[in-house]
Amino acid sequence: MRFIPLFSGSSGNSSYIESGGVRLLIDAGLTGKMVQDALYDVGVRPEALNGILVTHDHIDHTRSVGVLSRKYNLPVYANEGTFRAMAPIVRDIDPRNVRLFKTGEDFYIGEMNITPFKTPHDAAESVGFTFSHAGKKLCYMTDIGCFRESMFSEAAGSRLVFIEANHDIVMLKNGPYPYHLKQRILSESGHLSNENCGKALVRLYGTGVRYAVLAHLSKENNTEETAFAAVTAELEKAGIADMRVVVAKRDRVTGIFDI
Ligand SMILES: [Zn+2]
Ligand SMILES: [Zn+2]
Repeated sequence: MRFIPLFSGSSGNSSYIESGGVRLLIDAGLTGKMVQDALYDVGVRPEALNGILVTHDHIDHTRSVGVLSRKYNLPVYANEGTFRAMAPIVRDIDPRNVRLFKTGEDFYIGEMNITPFKTPHDAAESVGFTFSHAGKKLCYMTDIGCFRESMFSEAAGSRLVFIEANHDIVMLKNGPYPYHLKQRILSESGHLSNENCGKALVRLYGTGVRYAVLAHLSKENNTEETAFAAVTAELEKAGIADMRVVVAKRDRVTGIFDI
């Protein structure tokens, strides 16, 4: 299984995953050109994709979903709530490329098994995904206000977890955002703090997770160093020394993860 975060952060998100000959884009929250060029940079022709999976309707995840689907004739996989809410952004998608999934019900694309699971976030019907193929599993979860028990069960045993470390609570509280926005981010349906991300990883370590990519960092309320330090501090506090932690890049390809 190959996983490549192309862009990750509050200004735009897109990742690539491939296994068993199935090639998928997860979200497309930047311009079509940026996503397309990033794919070419990692040796993937956009027309070779089997589809675009969408986590939720927010524009930092959907900006070029419609553009890419039309240009390369790509199926778009999302649940009903997300299709409805993102319609003004993605506009017309060829009905043959509309692929509905149900939150909580797994499905297959080729041999890849995909489970969309409910996440706490202030979008129409946001989900995270687990991808399973040939005994390997990867969990993808960003835009999560908190880490719920149901998410723990989904992520358990993954080879790699792509998990939000959105903000440092002190930076957010002292930062420039207006009060209502701070409250929104801090709420259980907002975004996950570095500290809570670290705590989630401590729990997931117990299920065999040894690889974490920290994702969706806030530009205003976090830095790569702060996120890394906060998460590793939580791991150290729990006596964990063998979890690999990488911070996803906002504006370029983070790296190629073969698991
Ligand atoms: Zn987002
Ligand atoms: Zn969001």
